[in-house]
Amino acid sequence: MNTTKRTALVTGANKGIGFETARQLAQQGFTVWLGCRDQGRGEVAAEELADDGDVRFVSLDVTDAESVRAAAVRIGDETGALDVLVNNAGVQIKEGEGMPSTVQPETIQRTFDVNFYGALRVTQTFLPLVQMAQAGRIVNVSSTMGSITTLVSPGNPFGQIPVFAYSASKTLLNALTGWLAVELKDTPIKINSVCPGSNATDLNNNRGRQHPAEGAKVVVRAATLSADGPTGSFFDVSGPVGW
Ligand code: NDP
Repeated sequence: MNTTKRTALVTGANKGIGFETARQLAQQGFTVWLGCRDQGRGEVAAEELADDGDVRFVSLDVTDAESVRAAAVRIGDETGALDVLVNNAGVQIKEGEGMPSTVQPETIQRTFDVNFYGALRVTQTFLPLVQMAQAGRIVNVSSTMGSITTLVSPGNPFGQIPVFAYSASKTLLNALTGWLAVELKDTPIKINSVCPGSNATDLNNNRGRQHPAEGAKVVVRAATLSADGPTGSFFDVSGPVGW
């Protein structure tokens, strides 16, 4: 057994950016756990990635605390530590979404349950395993849509897009990044938010501009930062994004 092999968990990894992130980490030699809420879709994805390296399906619904706990027990038992945690699972719910004046509170709750509470739940549950690694990395897959700095910049077109629930969920996810990075500042762990750009995935009915393999690159960069890399930052392919 190769005990120096690094291990990664990617949530929502059966398709889109999570799937491509898992592929790229596997190609770099990580043992990659695909955290997927649907067993069938997860197993098919793991099979598709089998040629890329050591890829394993684990059942994981980020909205279900028991499912998250069970996944942590399984990964802890099989690989002992977690070098990389990628909080990628996300939803953009169309029904009830809108501007702040019209968005349905239930849509905010359902969106936050995956995009914010899900990431928080997974992070809290897996943190002990990340702390067992030599230099843990946590990546929150966020969006420039969550950037208040960008939102209020004069002429910014994002403010016209009626997706308050989704955008606010990413703002809150960014708060988790900043707070956790400060809490863990005296440890080797680095936690960052990244925006993967505009990718053609099911989330946006495949209307994004690039293939998710492109978007995954910045996620992988944050997942594999060296010791002198940033923590508590928010960046995309071009550099820092304002909070
Ligand atoms: P996809 O819709 O292609 O993938 C989303 C993934 O999240 C799926 O695997 C989905 O699983 C999973 N998921 C949803 N809910 C849960 C849950 N409760 N538990 C576990 N997994 C869940 O979207 P993308 O690949 O585009 O999105 C990935 C991340 O990137 C998201 O956080 C998104 O906000 C972010 N992002 C995307 C951008 C883009 O242009 N596409 C731009 C900026 C950020 P299932 O198949 O079972 O539904």
